[in-house]
Amino acid sequence: MLQLIDVITSYGATEVLHRISLEVGEGELVTLLGSNGAGKTTTLRVISGLHKLHQGQVKLGGVNLENRPPDDIVRMGIAHVPEGRRIFPGLTVRENLELGTVAWRKRGDRFDQDLERVYRLFPVLRTRDQQLGWSMSGGEQQMVAIGRALMARPKVLLLDEPSLGLSPLLVDQVFAALEEIKRQGTTILLVEQNAAMALEIADRGYVLSGGTIVLEDTAGRLSTNPEVKAAYLGG
Ligand code: ATP
Repeated sequence: MLQLIDVITSYGATEVLHRISLEVGEGELVTLLGSNGAGKTTTLRVISGLHKLHQGQVKLGGVNLENRPPDDIVRMGIAHVPEGRRIFPGLTVRENLELGTVAWRKRGDRFDQDLERVYRLFPVLRTRDQQLGWSMSGGEQQMVAIGRALMARPKVLLLDEPSLGLSPLLVDQVFAALEEIKRQGTTILLVEQNAAMALEIADRGYVLSGGTIVLEDTAGRLSTNPEVKAAYLGG
């Protein structure tokens, strides 16, 4: 479904991704692990067109995406939930979710169905739908950010650190929602610091270190791999 082939990119003169290749099959949940500065966020930004690649290819269902504008890439089926839950603080929950439909507005008449899907995944958002973004907890804002991405009806959902700064209870809720989103058929590429939880729900994973993929395996095998345990699972 999603393929990166020999992707190279830089910030200024500094190359930060060195020939990255990875693949996410249809319906798969794949996690991208790695320590701070490894290049995980940059990889997601290259896929969604927010950062230009210098060499290589990004393909969705065999169609080249590299260097297309981000709004085209959303329309083609990729939605990105960036790190830090960037929702609009002065808009209500419902208005934030409506913004996710921009890519489809002319064609779409399934708004109510799409909204219902988000409210089923995150019941708390239904009860807060007129509340302003800034007044929500971090966890609720993360749910709005994921919900808004789903309103774009993505084939592939990119998530950057969805558990960051959330209480353990909310992390559990967000991860349960990700499992449900996968069960409903959406393909997911998940960047997570919480490697243990990511490997619990993932099918496969890649480990990125210093801008290079150093390991690739099933989630089960990665979670028992001694190097992964030592570096990312607290020994
Ligand atoms: P983190 O978990 O800290 O977000 P990451 O694995 O997502 O790390 P990236 O944010 O992709 O890593 O960063 C990869 C490299 O690119 C790092 O060395 C980082 O310092 C550098 N970098 C990231 N953003 C910029 C930028 N806007 N300008 C210059 N260098 C950057």
